[in-house]
Amino acid sequence: MFIKDIFSSKKPVLSFEVFPPKQDSGLEAVQSAIETMSKMPIDYMSVTYGAGGSTSKNTANVASFMQDKLNLTALAHLTCVSSTKEDIQNTLNDLKNRGIQNILALRGDIPQDKDFVLPNDYAHASDLAAQIREFGGFCIGGACYPECHPDSPSLDTDIENLKIKVESGVDFLVTQMFFDNDAFYRFRDKLAKKNINVPITAGIMPLTNANQIKKMCVLSGGASMPAKFTRMISKYEDNPEALKQAGIAYAVDQIIDLLSNDIDGVHLYTMNKPETAEKIVTVINSLF
Ligand SMILES: Cc1cc2nc3c(=O)[nH]c(=O)nc-3n(C[C@H](O)[C@H](O)[C@H](O)COP(=O)(O)OP(=O)(O)OC[C@H]3O[C@@H](n4cnc5c(N)ncnc54)[C@H](O)[C@@H]3O)c2cc1C
Repeated sequence: MFIKDIFSSKKPVLSFEVFPPKQDSGLEAVQSAIETMSKMPIDYMSVTYGAGGSTSKNTANVASFMQDKLNLTALAHLTCVSSTKEDIQNTLNDLKNRGIQNILALRGDIPQDKDFVLPNDYAHASDLAAQIREFGGFCIGGACYPECHPDSPSLDTDIENLKIKVESGVDFLVTQMFFDNDAFYRFRDKLAKKNINVPITAGIMPLTNANQIKKMCVLSGGASMPAKFTRMISKYEDNPEALKQAGIAYAVDQIIDLLSNDIDGVHLYTMNKPETAEKIVTVINSLF
């Protein structure tokens, strides 16, 4: 099923994100976590693409597993900056043959390894979205950044670029994680003023341990941390169980506020942890 059709038929939409194993040997453990999560009332599940295409085969394998074995709608992430046009065309053929219908079209991070020679076939995710649209037969998602992508000089410039991406064929948007809902509401208003009218689903990351929090702050390009959030971390950082509970409660609180503000959807960055997903879903289930 096309995810854009899910957004047309029901709102809010609930989705989970998982990542594939780096090695084939980890596939079973990931599949088992996904199977547990598939029993929760979600509308689709997305599977990430390793930086530079490092896990591309397993992204497709996990997406096929979701659809073929669990009857879930799968969203396969795909990055382009380290690939040639031919690589991507081959991947699109593979995804089509597997019956995958939804792709999150991403640029990917520019590799920092000086020895890596960029093919330079793609500058932006919009180039990939245009290619997928021309290929045909896929519903296309794109990433967006309520607090600005780190490469952009300003949020307004980033939104101008986002408009190009949407006009290139993107059917719905998934946000970078954020911890400050007000930043998201300001962003949503700005997109509406620019006539960017595709559904926007809010990426929520339940932070459940101190290392994850440090790592995610770097990966998210510096999502701002409201005082309420930083107070919670400093209060419980030496008590792992309490921090986990508090992190889940914070995510639930964020989601309830978003749902009260007529959000199109919530995309939970579940980090392959069914227990965390389940604790959240148990509380918010009746709100969807
Ligand atoms: C929901 C989500 C899922 C993700 N999943 C993955 C994943 O699975 N694997 C992975 O490796 N990474 C993933 N990422 C990270 C992503 O690859 C990086 O954030 C990357 O740096 C940017 O990708 P993008 O698709 O947003 O790029 P783009 O949309 O191309 O934007 C990147 C930068 O280029 C600018 N730009 C865009 N278009 C133009 C234009 N036409 N002219 C000038 N400037 C332009 C933008 O303003 C921005 O600053 C994900 C991010 C999000 C938010």
